[in-house]
Amino acid sequence: MGTRVFCPECDAECVPRSTIRRETLMVRGEPQAVTADVAVCPACGEDLVDAARDDHTLVSAYNAYRQRHGLLQPRDIRRLRERYHLSQRLMAQIVGLDLVTLQRYEAGALQTDAHEALLRRLGDPQSAYDLATHHRNHLSLRQWALFEEGLQGDRMG
Ligand SMILES: [Zn+2]
Repeated sequence: MGTRVFCPECDAECVPRSTIRRETLMVRGEPQAVTADVAVCPACGEDLVDAARDDHTLVSAYNAYRQRHGLLQPRDIRRLRERYHLSQRLMAQIVGLDLVTLQRYEAGALQTDAHEALLRRLGDPQSAYDLATHHRNHLSLRQWALFEEGLQGDRMG
């Protein structure tokens, strides 16, 4: 188990061990304390670069920032999309984001305030209806029906 990583200190590959520590990351000028899973060389004890672990830590910091500022979390964005049975492509089209941007937000990237406002329009049934009506030519009959079902589900609870 474990991917081998190059340790510059030892000038050799190693299977890093995991160490959990508290770290503070700056997010838009605000310090966010997070629990970080850091890869460490078992031979010399140096921290190693591990993109997957570092990304995970960064997303944790973003989640804490979103929580503090009342922003949509990645799972909220995904739920909004699933409520209306939209593909990422279709949702991006309807709210006015590009596909890659929406994919990055669902994966944990920190949304801009302007994009937060766009995404939130889908959270309000009336705005969602207006948006979908405006983009109705992008939706097949089936997609429209599924969208309406999402709206109904929202009204019922
Ligand atoms: Zn080492």
